[in-house]
Amino acid sequence: MALINENYLKLPEYYFFNEIQQKVNAHKIINPKANVISLGLGDVSQPIPASALKAMKSAVEELSDPKTFKGYGPETGYNFLKNCIIKYDYAPRGVTLNHDEIFISDGSKSDVGNIGHIFGRDNIIGITDPVYPVYENAAIMGGRSGYLTDNNLWSNIVYIPCSSKNNFVPELPKEKVDIIYLCYPNNPTGIALTKAELKKWVDYALENHAIIIYDGAYFSYITEKNIPHSIYEIKGAKKCAIEIRSYSKTAGFTGLRCSYTVVPHEIIGFTLYGNAIEVNKLWWQRNTTYYNGTSYVIQKGAEALYSPEGMQEVKEMVSYYLTNAKIIREELTKCGFSVYGGVNSPHVWVKTPHHTTSWKFFQELLYDINVVCTPGAGFGLMGEGYFRLTGFNSRENTTEAMQRISKWI
Ligand code: PLP
Repeated sequence: MALINENYLKLPEYYFFNEIQQKVNAHKIINPKANVISLGLGDVSQPIPASALKAMKSAVEELSDPKTFKGYGPETGYNFLKNCIIKYDYAPRGVTLNHDEIFISDGSKSDVGNIGHIFGRDNIIGITDPVYPVYENAAIMGGRSGYLTDNNLWSNIVYIPCSSKNNFVPELPKEKVDIIYLCYPNNPTGIALTKAELKKWVDYALENHAIIIYDGAYFSYITEKNIPHSIYEIKGAKKCAIEIRSYSKTAGFTGLRCSYTVVPHEIIGFTLYGNAIEVNKLWWQRNTTYYNGTSYVIQKGAEALYSPEGMQEVKEMVSYYLTNAKIIREELTKCGFSVYGGVNSPHVWVKTPHHTTSWKFFQELLYDINVVCTPGAGFGLMGEGYFRLTGFNSRENTTEAMQRISKWI
């Protein structure tokens, strides 16, 4: 008799984003003529930069010739891409990295989910609330969340509240946590941490032998000067932080799939007997066993983003989405909403009016004016009473959606 991993049964039966999609699809079937505009889902709308396309086309051609054909590549990624990451993403910020501290992957969702495999089941996990739901779901599926308590929260997870009361900046938890997920600029609140705010977390991790999983999927959206782009800009972070970044929202790679995870050699975890183990080795082991590397063609595409043309194209793309976020922020503020984020992030986080629940507001917006938002409740308990809009749609659709909202409100 084959036994299943029963931890999977602990998850709600629906995935939050599928639930939204189902409601939107049903609305479209009932109203086939409705021009539905989605500012809800996190996918991008603009095409891949020309430099990346050109590089990928030529990489495909290489595969057609036995002399240049590539089969399995290095599991943790090609050095041509790692060189660019070291030289352009980290060196200008004063961070030095070795090639074997960088792991190229097929998207940061895989890595933020899979990274839990290398840690013990009895860690206390700190998760900010609201946040990208994958951290909690992966902990549940991996049997690391403990048991469900009376208030419907997991015993091994410490939820760190972020609300307008603390400007969505998480305070250090009173309970001791061992693994901490931080996502900055944050999805969904769009808030970024200053150096001083992030330093508190690095210091906490160093003092408590904790490890921070730093999800920097939106680092390229940072516009303000006092905001660190990488957690390694904070002294000591190489001893306690794993950083995960993605080309998805930076360069429209949501469909192509490419990201990277940095695991510095200095990070140490412990066995139950107190033996210190280098975490980099465990992640290397995990990757070389479970993964055969991101495709050569896609890595060539990512490499081209670091060429002068590529960098310019990425800059323009990010600026395009940030301008959309600005339009959303300004229009909703004019309409009287309380609006957060959207300055160092494509995400705009908005309080629902009149204490409406986030799912009710989602339905009103969809059914009344055919605009899709993301209900805040899907990002955690503290997300209730908020909704998220993103700057990822086209300029035309963003402007049209804002006109509809301002007339409607
Ligand atoms: N991390 C955060 C915070 C995200 O919002 C997303 C996607 O929306 C991801 C990771 C996953 O991105 P990727 O496309 O690299 O898997």
